[in-house]
Amino acid sequence: MKGNVKSSAPACGACRIQRKKCSDKCLLAPYFPPTDIRKFVIVHRVFGVTNIVKLLHDLPVEKRGDAVSSMIYEASVRIQDPVYGCAGAIRRLEQQVSELQSQLANIQLKFLNDRLQEAGLPPFISAIGTTNSILDTMNNTPDSDETDPMQLWEYPL
Ligand SMILES: [Zn+2]
Repeated sequence: MKGNVKSSAPACGACRIQRKKCSDKCLLAPYFPPTDIRKFVIVHRVFGVTNIVKLLHDLPVEKRGDAVSSMIYEASVRIQDPVYGCAGAIRRLEQQVSELQSQLANIQLKFLNDRLQEAGLPPFISAIGTTNSILDTMNNTPDSDETDPMQLWEYPL
């Protein structure tokens, strides 16, 4: 096999997994090096070679690297979470943001109340739960004309 390959470079990761000859014009070679075949295995498992090639073929060359990175991430997450994939990852990150915003609001309230106490004034708001709902209202100004894209991905937990 090695004698048939004109180039001295080894087959790319994609061609190696597919047991195909790799040429200088291989569409997948720049994105799936032979040193990291795991990337192709993951993407191949989720998207399939035909879809990978079709997607890359339809993109400008300068955007293909980002597309491959995105496919690798999406495929990795889909394998870890076959039900929700990236939507599950986004949901978890949203929950984390919400929890961190709540913690930040509590810290800001404590800071404010400490300053008020130092000045001999009564606390601004003593019920932290009330403060969170006030801050949530301030942070989420209602805009009924806009649809939250994340609502499209809502699912029961
Ligand atoms: Zn190749």
